[in-house]
Amino acid sequence: MREVLVISGKGGTGKTTLVAALTCFKNDIVVADCDVDAPDLHLLLKPEVEREFEFKGEEIAYIDKKLCKQCGVCISVCQFDAISDDYVVDEFSCEGCGVCEWMCPAKSIVMKERIQGKYFISSIKAGKMVHAQLFPGAENSGKLVTKVKNLAREVATEEKAEGILIDGAPGIGCPVIASLSRVNLALIVTEPTVSGVHDLKRIVELAEFFKIKVKVIINKFDLNILKTEEIEDYCRSKRISVVSKIPFYYEMIEALNRGLSIVEYSNNPEILNLYKDISRGIWEGE
Ligand code: SF4
Ligand code: SF4
Repeated sequence: MREVLVISGKGGTGKTTLVAALTCFKNDIVVADCDVDAPDLHLLLKPEVEREFEFKGEEIAYIDKKLCKQCGVCISVCQFDAISDDYVVDEFSCEGCGVCEWMCPAKSIVMKERIQGKYFISSIKAGKMVHAQLFPGAENSGKLVTKVKNLAREVATEEKAEGILIDGAPGIGCPVIASLSRVNLALIVTEPTVSGVHDLKRIVELAEFFKIKVKVIINKFDLNILKTEEIEDYCRSKRISVVSKIPFYYEMIEALNRGLSIVEYSNNPEILNLYKDISRGIWEGE
């Protein structure tokens, strides 16, 4: 089963709108949204949630007020000032060290896994979607990305899907590294700007390190032809295929304002053919 990851090195390059458009050409795939810190693919694909799961992260301390003798030992031993004067643990300050549990004479403290977010299996037009949402202030997004990807693989196997299309996280940190594991192709969306070129090079290096095949899409290429040529030269020097150059389409803004992908919104044959060719290039290519 082919796994295609769409990444960009930074936000705002059109990665998610591309993923949404590509889902219009296949109805036998599972889509995974691995941008768990700030997911927005659901705004375009409008998934209907079928199953919901809790994402549990590290342990934090909980005080059972009924057992507590109010001796104050826990407050004095906590190095992180995580316990208030009325014996309540601040879950954002607690580091989960467990010292208070160990020292409590009344055994009124227990360590429990903190619920840090939720993840979902949903149905969309193209098939199934696995997506997630971390709660504000929660960490461990790399771990949640791995959960989303593994669940997407299970769902794809159950559904006998032809492939998994993954919307990756922006940047080059842990969530992106987690989303790169075991994919067949990293499709990098870049744009012809100074930062676009810089971020492209960083993410190519990352993919090369993990020996992942890379292809590139230059979005809004006509806004800076010189930078577009620089990107093409760079890709040529690295033997990276540029799958497509997408011009700036005003229809994209209109489509987003209506919560649609450009392929659903537009009836411009040039746009439809362009995205159809991209779809062919990533699913049928090497
Ligand atoms: S150490 Fe235990 S008994 Fe003492 S105040 Fe803390 S929770 Fe209550
Ligand atoms: S687990 Fe550690 S950090 Fe959390 S409240 Fe207890 S002593 Fe403080």
